[in-house]
Amino acid sequence: MRASVSRTAIVAGGGIAGLSSALALSLAGYEVEIFERSPRLEAVGAGLQLSPNALDVLARLGVLDALTQVAVAARSVTLRSGRTGTVLARIPVESTAGRGYLSVHRADLQRVLLDAVERVGWIRLHLGQNLSALQDEGPTVCASFRSIDGTASTVSADLLVIADGVHSAGAALLDYAPARNTGVQALRFAVPPDTDGSATGEIEAWLGTKRHAVSYTIRRDGSRNLVVLQPDGQTRLDGFSLWDQRLRSMLERADPVGVWPILDVDHAERMVPRARIVLVGDAAHAMPPYAAQGAAMAIEDAWVLACQLFVSPPEVALPAFAALRAPRIAKVVKRAAFHRFVYHLPPPASWARNAAMAARSPASLRADLGWLYDWTAAPLDGGPT
Ligand SMILES: Cc1cc2nc3c(=O)[nH]c(=O)nc-3n(C[C@H](O)[C@H](O)[C@H](O)COP(=O)(O)OP(=O)(O)OC[C@H]3O[C@@H](n4cnc5c(N)ncnc54)[C@H](O)[C@@H]3O)c2cc1C
Repeated sequence: MRASVSRTAIVAGGGIAGLSSALALSLAGYEVEIFERSPRLEAVGAGLQLSPNALDVLARLGVLDALTQVAVAARSVTLRSGRTGTVLARIPVESTAGRGYLSVHRADLQRVLLDAVERVGWIRLHLGQNLSALQDEGPTVCASFRSIDGTASTVSADLLVIADGVHSAGAALLDYAPARNTGVQALRFAVPPDTDGSATGEIEAWLGTKRHAVSYTIRRDGSRNLVVLQPDGQTRLDGFSLWDQRLRSMLERADPVGVWPILDVDHAERMVPRARIVLVGDAAHAMPPYAAQGAAMAIEDAWVLACQLFVSPPEVALPAFAALRAPRIAKVVKRAAFHRFVYHLPPPASWARNAAMAARSPASLRADLGWLYDWTAAPLDGGPT
């Protein structure tokens, strides 16, 4: 179902949140202009896991088939002892309804979303446009953008969606406190395909004191993503020298992609509704990646926002959106913090953790995540699925 186009929206930011929001809003009857700071949408970032809740939205947006062509399906997350590689738990990740779980390069996801955006006649993408001012008064909202050559332009619309990421200029213009450093850094690596043909869609995490590593295949050729989370300020991987041989050999073959400080924002503050401005994705609720849900929540935001805007004008839809999203985001942030606590336990607490995991079946571990993975995207008009 799609509404006839009768209202206008500005989307600041052309990342996962911005492109998903533009697509969803285009279905809700909005003509959309996306303003993206970068002059090109380049292959930034690394691997992403996309859980069934995110894939349900991508199906509604009509991009899941294209994504499935480039992504890799995963059936489970395997938690291993960092030191020995022993399997501690294997948690199935498909939804109860059978929706899959994919791992993908962020650039491939962005490309699939961009291709879909380019097919919609009433979405326009403006590159090299940096959000620099905004005004939310009266019946429209105004946003100003500065291009690389210094030219400024101001546009007005019925709605402004701020989707400009963790270092959000929009949030700063609204006087929100900046993102906070959580004291952890992520070192990301690209690992070439295994020569022994052992590449699988399995997602593996190695757990250790104050650090862990995650690896999974992101492309059909077997290329892998490897991310190491460890205390801030350490540029070397000394803490991993005695870890599982398989992880060490991956690290030896890996090409560094970059170091990401792990940041978060005050999501409760940023999700309080405003008249015609809404923050989505990392701009609203950047969260540490321990539950692999940052992009998934950005994608969910896009759909829930569009559902509200399909049936109501912004002044009604934005409070309804906040009421729906704030509790779920708070729960996901809490779950991610729980994962960090559990993954990074030192001995002897880690021995108790390992015993507790061994005592539970895969189905019971998966049941803990039912509220997260089994979430589905309702039809735009709120009618039956
Ligand atoms: C180590 C690590 C691992 C992760 N793993 C996962 C995972 O497995 N699964 C998952 O779901 N999530 C994961 N995430 C989180 C995920 O990457 C983010 O939540 C997601 O990319 C956020 O998307 P976004 O569109 O909100 O922000 P971004 O992807 O940062 O996009 C913001 C866009 O806005 C643009 N922009 C910035 N400033 C301006 C401006 N002033 N004007 C206009 N445009 C602007 C930027 O150029 C960019 O294109 C991980 C994150 C990290 C750090």
